[in-house]
Amino acid sequence: MSIGVDVGGTSVRAGVVDRHGTVVDTARAPTPSAETALEDAIVAVVSGLAARHKIGAVGLAVAGFVTTDRRSVMFAPHLAWRDVAVADRISERLSLPVVLEHDANAAVLAEHRFGAARGSRVALLVAIGTGIGGGLLLDGRLFRGAFGVAPELGHLRLVPHGRPCSCGKSGCWERYCSGTALSVSAVELLARHPGRSTVLAREASIDARTVTGRKVAAAARDGDPLARRAMAELATWLGEGLALVADIYDPEIVVIAGGVSESAPLFLDDAREHYRKSITGAGYRPLARIRTAQLGDDAALVGAALLAADRT
Ligand SMILES: [Zn+2]
Repeated sequence: MSIGVDVGGTSVRAGVVDRHGTVVDTARAPTPSAETALEDAIVAVVSGLAARHKIGAVGLAVAGFVTTDRRSVMFAPHLAWRDVAVADRISERLSLPVVLEHDANAAVLAEHRFGAARGSRVALLVAIGTGIGGGLLLDGRLFRGAFGVAPELGHLRLVPHGRPCSCGKSGCWERYCSGTALSVSAVELLARHPGRSTVLAREASIDARTVTGRKVAAAARDGDPLARRAMAELATWLGEGLALVADIYDPEIVVIAGGVSESAPLFLDDAREHYRKSITGAGYRPLARIRTAQLGDDAALVGAALLAADRT
């Protein structure tokens, strides 16, 4: 068996994964902000699991740029590593082989082997959470680009002169289609239509920062009209963005993952409609199926474990 570790901005989640993709044991820890502490946390969760199971290798799924040899992290916006040979460092401490992969790449591998993208040749995974992460399989193989950083979908500029983004650009896709975007859209809508939404208006009147994407999604589920409108905006931009990506890669399946996908019943049909209308040659070409992920939160961890298992 192998261990997959999802090294995210808030937590380090590890799981022992068997060859059927089943997670048989798990451990987690909060993500420390300093480099050494982060590595200590990974070593601690993995060691705990390795003491209870016979482990052959470890895969780390990282929200960041990973070199083509899967040994180093070049850059990870929410983690301490900058040009660090993470695989060698962790491998030395654990005395186990270690491999790295971008978390969305790992997730699309897992969904392809065990989940929503099973049997497809060209599959795109779009993880919608705080931002957007993308993973792409072409002819059944992971497409990582020439330098390992493809596909970086979240920062495609969809809206000229649009909302400013932390990446330094503006109008990026994830500024309009993410949990963060739900919150921004709701606050903008509240400013334009004061009194439309009692729940969110009350939140915003205290502090606009408390109107999180999660709260907007919950309000939309309860039928709140303003939250539903924020959700409709997300659906529009999801469809528009997917149409743009589909014009390049022509996927047969698009898997929607990430925290926001839990609210899929509130936006997915709308997004499919926008996708159908926005794609080039609309009405005269087969369209990708757009579905939600099946492995949920475990996809990246399972994918990383798969890569580790393939190495042993
Ligand atoms: Zn950006």
